[in-house]
Amino acid sequence: MIQSEARHSTTEDVVAELRRRSTFVMVSHVKPDGDTLGAGLALGLALREIGKRVHYFQQDPVPRNLRFLPDADRVAREMPADLPADTLWVFCDMSDTSRAGEHLPAIERENVLDIDHHLANSRFGALNYVLETECSTGTCVLHLLRAMGSTITPEIATCLLTTIMTDTGGFMHSNTTAGVLRTSAELVELGADKEDITEKIFANKRFAAIRLLGAALDSARLEEDGKYCWSIVDEAMLEKFGADGEDTEEIVNHLRSVEGVDVAALFKDYDGDVRVSLRSSGRVNVQTVAGRLGGGGHFRASGLTYVGPVQDAVAALRDALRAEGL
Ligand code: 5GP
Ligand code: MN
Repeated sequence: MIQSEARHSTTEDVVAELRRRSTFVMVSHVKPDGDTLGAGLALGLALREIGKRVHYFQQDPVPRNLRFLPDADRVAREMPADLPADTLWVFCDMSDTSRAGEHLPAIERENVLDIDHHLANSRFGALNYVLETECSTGTCVLHLLRAMGSTITPEIATCLLTTIMTDTGGFMHSNTTAGVLRTSAELVELGADKEDITEKIFANKRFAAIRLLGAALDSARLEEDGKYCWSIVDEAMLEKFGADGEDTEEIVNHLRSVEGVDVAALFKDYDGDVRVSLRSSGRVNVQTVAGRLGGGGHFRASGLTYVGPVQDAVAALRDALRAEGL
């Protein structure tokens, strides 16, 4: 039994709890990426290897470019009715339970394990394994697997390398330390197929996505003395190209790659509210920028949901950016 809620749980505490419980639900965040999903799948695969019962909860469908991941076909939105009362719900890669979506059933806090690497994690679990200096939630999971003495199969290695390649932008972001490269080399030696992951995640765009990218770049604005680049994708643009939300993934990174740009933003004005994706080149902390408007994330990559017209979202974000030193 978990005695008290800990702001930080040790590796040993978490491993003891993983050994004690019989049944697990791995929970990924809405609009899942390769980190939230790869981390949950890696831990789930390792627990299944030692005879545990494992389910995967995710509100949204698995994105097309992540369907190659082992066990991805087991991810579901509905959970079985016969889950034991002491099922452990393992939230991967989210600073708050709200990131799992509104479809999540009510869960007692004593049955929650929070594994994450976000700066502003709210420590919502009974156990909180939050390692802020890790490049991905997947590498937090790897620490647990090593402490458990798990066999890292090629399937698990593929899931873990996917988390790293997702959150380092294919080894390009500043969180790509020597240690991250060493860990990645070990995962390749254990059977992770880097070539396949690269192809599936980064070179697997639909033609509609490329045309949508073209339109979003064509209407991009450069402001604040060239330090801020932003664009909007709306319902009409998605319709014009036969694209959907998944096809917007890379657009903000292109906006950020413009010479002299400190911050890029993409406003996604469809599906009701406005979703905003933010990227920073390292001078401005976009986690605190997003935090001003109810969102969060990392220093260089963050996001938020704005309730209101897109023009108001654009104005509110400009104010927040100026307040944070843009
Ligand atoms: P993306 O732009 O890829 O949707 O999100 C970038 C990062 O920002 C994600 O890795 C996630 O950590 C964070 N993020 C995005 N949206 C939200 C949000 O609404 N709330 C919080 N707390 N973090 C978010
Ligand atoms: Mn992550």
